[in-house]
Amino acid sequence: MPKAVGIDLGTTNSVVAVVESAGAEPTVIPSAEGGRLCPSVVAFTKTGERLVGVLARRQATLNPEGTVNSIKRFIGRRYSEVEAERKIVPYKVVPGRNDAATVEIDGKQYTPEQISSIILQKLKADAEAFLGEEVKDAVITVPAYFNDSQRQSTKLAGEIAGFNVLAILNEPTAASLAYGLGKGKNEKILVWDLGGGTFDVTVLEIGDGVFEVKATNGDTHLGGDDWDEMLVNYLADEFQKTNGIDLRKDRQALQRLREAAEKAKIELSSMLQTNINLPFITADQTGPKHLDMVITRHQFEDLTRPLLGRCVEPFKQALKDAKLSEKDLDEVVLVGGSTRMPAVQELVKKLTGKEPNKTVNPDEVVAVGAAIQAAALTGKGGATLPVLVDVTPLSLGVETQGGVMTVMIPRNTPVPTSRTEVYTTAADFQSSVEIHVLQGERPMARDNRSLGRFQLTNIPPAPKGVPQIEVTFDIDANNILRVSARDRATGKETKVTITGSTTLTKADVERMMRDAELHAEEDRRRKEVIEARHNAQSLASQVENLLKEYGDRIPASDKAEVEAAVKRVRELATSEDLDAIRSAHSQLEASYRGVGELIYRMASESQTQAASDEGAAASGGA
Ligand code: AMP
Repeated sequence: MPKAVGIDLGTTNSVVAVVESAGAEPTVIPSAEGGRLCPSVVAFTKTGERLVGVLARRQATLNPEGTVNSIKRFIGRRYSEVEAERKIVPYKVVPGRNDAATVEIDGKQYTPEQISSIILQKLKADAEAFLGEEVKDAVITVPAYFNDSQRQSTKLAGEIAGFNVLAILNEPTAASLAYGLGKGKNEKILVWDLGGGTFDVTVLEIGDGVFEVKATNGDTHLGGDDWDEMLVNYLADEFQKTNGIDLRKDRQALQRLREAAEKAKIELSSMLQTNINLPFITADQTGPKHLDMVITRHQFEDLTRPLLGRCVEPFKQALKDAKLSEKDLDEVVLVGGSTRMPAVQELVKKLTGKEPNKTVNPDEVVAVGAAIQAAALTGKGGATLPVLVDVTPLSLGVETQGGVMTVMIPRNTPVPTSRTEVYTTAADFQSSVEIHVLQGERPMARDNRSLGRFQLTNIPPAPKGVPQIEVTFDIDANNILRVSARDRATGKETKVTITGSTTLTKADVERMMRDAELHAEEDRRRKEVIEARHNAQSLASQVENLLKEYGDRIPASDKAEVEAAVKRVRELATSEDLDAIRSAHSQLEASYRGVGELIYRMASESQTQAASDEGAAASGGA
């Protein structure tokens, strides 16, 4: 049976893991470049190449506008919702179809689903290379706080990449699966997940193999990137004070500064001070300028204290929603690279009164949990299959008279779930009603996210308040919502799956899937061309060397033929024509074959001669 993978599609890094056989320990799959984390970065270079992961990240400094990082901040979101995010990314974000936040590079638009699918495609290829077989099934994780639109867009990204998405799983649920907590005893667990771009705090109750998410809270605008940004601003301010130049205005300098800030931040997790050294960061009339500063952990913690402060409220709210106090918690689990910061660990300890649990690598714990769930869903999990109970991250409801949001399914309701309510008309002889589906916690409809609208028509004429319209909300285990409205008098029913919340149409998705396949094909072809060129050119070099040495001793007509074949190969050194390269290679092989034997004989004769000369010299010298 084919293997199913677990994928942590992170803001900063992505990780893919697999359970190779029933009951086996999950393995984190290394990327083709050798790392365990794949930077969630996609780049489009000036030469038309598409790069993913480490290679994309490496060239970011030189190509900031063509390098897309933190795409997770935009997935499933509207342009009007992402003002803050737009400001912190170096690439251009524009309003696309249905106001969807869309990336624009060199005049070409890419949806966040497409960019994410490129990352997922790379993870798929790495997993296939590692496992030596095709990989289709995957569980992909999302922050617990993601709304319906963000979840659906993530699922679409998986489908565009060619995956069969078994489930969209909450990251803290995955982390707790990885810890294998709750085996045999009831436990209340707090998962504190601070990654590159999001902060989630989740309270889980685990017992008898059942994981129930009691409450989730967080901040989709808070992560390690913000710590970097604060340090960048501090460094830029200091530099400006002494040199009068604002490095933030120069995109390349800013990118270098960002990388240096992140490196310094990571170093400060294990060291008490670090040096930030950026030679030739800029120049003015007086010559080149260098940035060279020492930052202590103390300074860094002072500077970023406001960010740490922003973690406190979501923590308190999650405990409150779960109706627990910190004393009720049995375990505290740390997830996400940013929880390696000592100040974060201290804060968690102070708030919970517990030593946080961090035995599983915080960068990998989510992918590991997703792999366990993927194995469970495909019957590879061994005897103890986890059963998951997720909750709705935000309240769902409909707009009722006066523009009010009337909640149908409150936040933190375990899924799958279904609720039916009866509504009526607001005007006499109203023949249709509009069902406006909303998600959010605000009392007025306009302040919540609109997931979609649909009409129930042909209601028989009746005074207002008489018709009885049954509205049903159905949420499946993937938190995907279906809404239906039924007129009790006629039995007439209208149903929708709320997919309007993702801004892509089915046709868009199909087109993107075709594009993705085409790209995979293009990448394969490119690789073949490069390999063919390399093989032909190295054969040409070998033959040239042999001709130099033995050319004057082989028949002139044979020599001319081989030389012509070498020339033909050399002419194709930069060609893209795979067939031409392969045929020139075969031609060279064929024409060389004729003289090869001769040259081989000459080479071995001259070796024997050299050996006997050496022997003679040695015996002569004795
Ligand atoms: P994740 O999303 O879990 O991959 O976390 C990525 C974030 O963790 C990035 O902002 C990294 O800079 C940050 N990070 C990784 N390692 C460390 C570390 N040792 N100390 C502080 N932050 C780190």
